[in-house]
Amino acid sequence: MAQITQASLLQDLKRGATWLDREYAKQQGQTWDAIGEARRLQFADILDKWCMKENQVRFIFEYQGCVLDPKRCASDGPVRCDACAYV
Ligand SMILES: [Zn+2]
Repeated sequence: MAQITQASLLQDLKRGATWLDREYAKQQGQTWDAIGEARRLQFADILDKWCMKENQVRFIFEYQGCVLDPKRCASDGPVRCDACAYV
């Protein structure tokens, strides 16, 4: 297993947020059936991992800013980090 660093977690979180944003946008207006079980499960899995990695970067490395720094989490996207959710 690769060693977990603050930089690797932040990189995964940026990549994950981009994937979740894109997939979320694609799913808008589609029915559950049209999206399909495999895609729904994949979305849930990536979302789970995203939340776990945010917790890791905050608890292990005491990271405090937005995980997408220097950008900020979108207010209308599928995920918003704790730093952006409670301002
Ligand atoms: Zn944020």
